[in-house]
Amino acid sequence: PYDVLVVGGGPAGASAAIYAARKGIRTGILAERFGGQVMDTVGIENFISTKYTEGPKLAASLEEHVKEYNVDVMKLQRAVRLDKSDFIEVELENGAVLKSKTVILSTGARWRNVGVPGEAEFKNKGVAYCPHCDGPLFAGKHVAVIGGGNSGIEAAIDLAGITSHVTVLEFAPELKADAVLQDRLYSLPNVTVHKNVQTKEITGTDKVNGISYIERDTGAEKHVELEGVFVQIGLVPNTDWLPDHIERTRFGEVVVNNHGATSLPGVFAAGDCTNSPYKQIIISMGSGATAALGAFDYLIRH
Ligand code: FAD
Repeated sequence: PYDVLVVGGGPAGASAAIYAARKGIRTGILAERFGGQVMDTVGIENFISTKYTEGPKLAASLEEHVKEYNVDVMKLQRAVRLDKSDFIEVELENGAVLKSKTVILSTGARWRNVGVPGEAEFKNKGVAYCPHCDGPLFAGKHVAVIGGGNSGIEAAIDLAGITSHVTVLEFAPELKADAVLQDRLYSLPNVTVHKNVQTKEITGTDKVNGISYIERDTGAEKHVELEGVFVQIGLVPNTDWLPDHIERTRFGEVVVNNHGATSLPGVFAAGDCTNSPYKQIIISMGSGATAALGAFDYLIRH
């Protein structure tokens, strides 16, 4: 069996694997897609100490760094079940069962898509999902935020300070964000809110040039010219394969303590699949280190 088996090969998993391997313990890492969400990212400007890098380049360095150590790297493998008996068992889609004394879950998350024409086509060409990451790219420009929940309205307030104008599109007749966020939003001079509207299409040529939506009460179609669209309709953690006795929030995020431990002894978690309030590369790496050190502490006590 492994001492530490890391499930997920994004920034959190890579960091956890390196920290574990540096303790000289038997470490494995399995990942469906090594690099994780970083592989979908073009410019990265907030990975501190590196002024600018690009997703695939960072993903390649993550893998190269992991391979500096004695770590079993299992790529293109998907975990489908986790159980605990004498050891923690992780079953793969291909039927193999891996055993380990501790497991670190770092399966990340995915942004929910709106699924309208133009969204996939203009991803990274005006369609964005992370205001902390991509907000500054739209300085002085007009952007839309799709989604009027807390994350959408937080994004709109954030973007209003950077961009020239923010248009918020909410499907429901009312915003779902907390009242305090709505008050703050409505106090800003450069924000327009459209409620009860359905996004129809993100338009553009080589990059985004506008958004079309339908007013649900009148059926009228409207088009707004703008340069960017932030989709903020939810981040879904990749945790639906886990057993019920690993505690999760109502959003499906694995609940961890400050040692990265979950409610199941020996199982730790890190990164975007957890209840960490902010989902960023640097934060995932930090929590991966925490989870590995937490797992090591657990091992020397059991
Ligand atoms: P992920 O990167 O999501 O990695 C999850 C890993 O788990 C992957 O290897 C995946 O294949 C694997 N996996 C999932 N399920 C299973 C399973 N069942 N079995 C096996 N493996 C599984 N952050 C920044 O700090 N700066 C940025 O500029 C930035 N830009 C972004 C741009 C885009 C378009 C996106 C989508 C995100 C961006 N982020 C950015 C966020 C950042 O990418 C994430 O916070 C970070 O990648 C999370 O790391 P993670 O390791 O927790 O999860």
